[in-house]
Amino acid sequence: MEKGDLIFIVLIILLLFLSSSLIFVNLILSDDSKEEKATFFGNISGSPVLNSIQFYPNMRFANPELKYWFEPSCNLKKIEEVTESLSLLSEETVLEFMPSNENSSDILIFCSEMPDEEVAISQGEKYFIAGEGGPTELINLTRSYLILKGKISLFRDDKCKTPHLALHELLHALGFDHNNNPESIMYPVTDCDQTLDSSIIDTINEIYKDPPLQDLAMEKISISEGAYRLYYSVSVANYGYLDSQNVSLTVFADNEKIGEYNLGEIKVGVRKIIDVKNLKIFQSVKNLKFIVLSEKGKEITLENNFAEITIHS
Ligand SMILES: [Zn+2]
Repeated sequence: MEKGDLIFIVLIILLLFLSSSLIFVNLILSDDSKEEKATFFGNISGSPVLNSIQFYPNMRFANPELKYWFEPSCNLKKIEEVTESLSLLSEETVLEFMPSNENSSDILIFCSEMPDEEVAISQGEKYFIAGEGGPTELINLTRSYLILKGKISLFRDDKCKTPHLALHELLHALGFDHNNNPESIMYPVTDCDQTLDSSIIDTINEIYKDPPLQDLAMEKISISEGAYRLYYSVSVANYGYLDSQNVSLTVFADNEKIGEYNLGEIKVGVRKIIDVKNLKIFQSVKNLKFIVLSEKGKEITLENNFAEITIHS
C-alpha cells in the first residue's frame, strides 16, 4: 500500500470518529416551505354559532380607529346623520372615527343606490344586505373574523328625528346582524324609539379588547422517524390582525438547536407549512420543541408560539 493511501484511510477513520462523536449531523436533503391561505377549522360557510348578535361571532376591524368616506352624492342631511351616529358610537364604545379618502377608508358611505355587483363579496357569501350595509371584505380567523372593508348605502330617507337608519347601517358594516329585540336599533323594522342597546355596546367593547396586533401560532406538527432519520411537518399561522414580518421557526431536539427556518412574512389569515425530510440524527431523539417568533415581537398572545412533542419517553 502506498503511503498516501494509508494517510487517506487514517483521515477517513478520523473523520468517521469525529462525526460519530457529534450528537447531530444536520443533513437536510429537502426543506420545503409553502404558503397557503389558511382555512383554519370552522369554515365561514359552516353553521353560525348561536348567541352571536353579529353575522358571525367576533367580527371586527383590526383597528378601533376607523376611517370613513362619503360618496360625493351624499347631501348635507345624510352627512349629518352619519356623523351624529358615529359620535354616538364613539361616546358609547371604544371605537373612534375619522374621515379619510375612498381608498384608505374602512367604511364607505354611499347615498345613491348601489349596483348589484357591489353586494357580492369575493368569498361568494353575502354579508352585505342589499340596499343596506355590511362587511364587504373579510378574513376568517377562526376565533374571529377580520373585517377589511364595510359599506353602507343610505339611498332611503330617514323619517326619525334622531338618525336611525345611518346608525343601523353603520352597525351592519361593523358586523352586526338584525336582532329580535323590538327596542333595539338592529330590529329589522324601524321605529323611531329604538336605541343603541347595551348588548351591542358590550359586544363592541368586548371584541375590540385585543390590541390590533399579530398572533403567530403553531398549528399542527407531524413527526415520523426512520433509521437515523427524522421527518417533520410543521404548520405556522397568523391568527392576529396584523401581518407578521421576518418570522423564524426554531427547532430544538432534546434542548439542542437543530434548525432555524426563516419564514419571511406571514400575512393575516395565512399559514406556512415547513416540511423537513431526512434530517440525519445519530441517536434517538426524545423530545422536540418548536418556537415561532416574529422580528417585530408584539403579539396578542405568546402562549400559542411554542409546541413540544415527546417522541420517546
Ligand atoms: Zn338592516
